[in-house]
Amino acid sequence: MSDLYSLGFKGQVFTPSSPEYDSARDRYPKNAVLKPSYIVQPTSAQDVPLAIKFALSQNPPLEVAIKGGGANPYPASSSDGGLVIDLGNLKAVKVADDKQSVSVGGGALWSDVYTETDKHGVVPVGGTVHFLGVGGVILAGGYSHLSGRHGLAVDNVLQATVVLADGRVVITNETEEPDLFWAIRGGVNQFGVVTELVLKTYPLPGPMTTGALVYPGTELQNVLAAWHNHLDNHHPSTKMMLVCARTPPDFRPSLLVLPYIENNATLPDSVLAPFRELAQPSFESFTTVNSFLAVSHAGDQTLIDAPPRLHISGALISDLWDDVFSQAFDSWTQFTEDEAFRGSVLLWEFPHRDKVAEKKVEDMAFAAREKHYFFVVNARYTLATEEVKAVEWASDLAGLVRKAQVEKTGKSLITPASFALNPQTMMPEGIWGSNLPRLRELKAKYDPQKVWSKGWVIEPDLRL
Ligand SMILES: Cc1cc2nc3c(=O)[nH]c(=O)nc-3n(C[C@H](O)[C@H](O)[C@H](O)COP(=O)(O)OP(=O)(O)OC[C@H]3O[C@@H](n4cnc5c(N)ncnc54)[C@H](O)[C@@H]3O)c2cc1C
Repeated sequence: MSDLYSLGFKGQVFTPSSPEYDSARDRYPKNAVLKPSYIVQPTSAQDVPLAIKFALSQNPPLEVAIKGGGANPYPASSSDGGLVIDLGNLKAVKVADDKQSVSVGGGALWSDVYTETDKHGVVPVGGTVHFLGVGGVILAGGYSHLSGRHGLAVDNVLQATVVLADGRVVITNETEEPDLFWAIRGGVNQFGVVTELVLKTYPLPGPMTTGALVYPGTELQNVLAAWHNHLDNHHPSTKMMLVCARTPPDFRPSLLVLPYIENNATLPDSVLAPFRELAQPSFESFTTVNSFLAVSHAGDQTLIDAPPRLHISGALISDLWDDVFSQAFDSWTQFTEDEAFRGSVLLWEFPHRDKVAEKKVEDMAFAAREKHYFFVVNARYTLATEEVKAVEWASDLAGLVRKAQVEKTGKSLITPASFALNPQTMMPEGIWGSNLPRLRELKAKYDPQKVWSKGWVIEPDLRL
């Protein structure tokens, strides 16, 4: 540890003997909590090369992990025995004088961002939940409530500051170091530590309605009919989510319709009409707010009360198919009959599809540019001994939906890294598709020694 300070490191360092070690290594999904030998919290980008140098100078060299918000259930942001670069102190947020952009520290949470941008009446395309990290969400793609109108979060990055494996601190954008700019936008943690991002901003949309309509599982066919009606009239400013969850007090299978509606673009009552007329909700509750920070807190109750371990798996889908939905619903109903997994949920998310598909696959590393919706399995559980079962079920169910996608349309879709969190169950080709060869070339350029070796690892193409 003293070596790190003697190198000139100015931030905080935690080791297993530090009183704050357990809180420093904590994560929202408890299955992502590992036991690093060092956790370092840089105070500036200039601290980061010193942490890398220290880790690589150990004998043997230490594994290096990068932590943004630490919300990802796959523990790529931590390490057993290695060194974690925790960016939690790099969370400054500054809206530009012309309000067209915001610069954001690589360790900021979306709550840090929205707290500041709300004050200026603007919003970037960002995470839907306040405790997610800016780095992890954007570098993997970033599906937002605003994606129907403005594309993914990664489509709205103007510039980044990246600390490379060799310690250089580089500014990258469309004209400066453009290869790196291409690679980080979808390349997750594979090209360096992103210490700052500059994001395009948009005016706040005005009043926004969020909430829930709750249906008993027996209403499934009617809810699907309402859903098709909604999709036939889908406005880009509205994003709806359909969730399968067991709700108290009786924990019977339920369907939840969770809308995000921009009131200045569409009237909530007209968006919700099919969900009230074609199906019978047993309960509904809505709130209208003017702040994106408030929108990002909409799911708090369910997310905070949920069992502490989480495994996520997912698939993109070209359409909503009733038979596939029913099959997934049946699998989920059966799996959650076991009380240990009762908190598990299925999320079917329906952002308007066109804007995301306007970009081309080759525009950046993020490769999912066919028109799509997405399906995410959240296997929730409490005990580590339940992990194998949870991972197996979630992976199988996502696999079933991926297979159905191929059977229905004749083509498979990319699975973005955010929804395919387990490198053991998905090959890099499934994440990056036809962009993988170029990513491998750029890995050889920027990280030939594979210093960034956590999670989805890109093999450097060293032939050139
Ligand atoms: C409750 C919940 C809701 C979600 N909702 C959405 C959603 O609506 N839309 C969506 O797109 N995704 C969503 N996700 C997925 C989410 O985008 C990923 O889990 C994301 O990785 C979280 O980012 P993080 O920074 O908190 O994660 P971390 O665990 O800190 O990091 C995840 C990965 O990113 C890398 N990383 C993080 N920051 C940096 C950085 N600054 N520089 C380099 N590498 C970095 C890490 O090394 C790691 O590989 C959700 C996840 C959860 C748990």
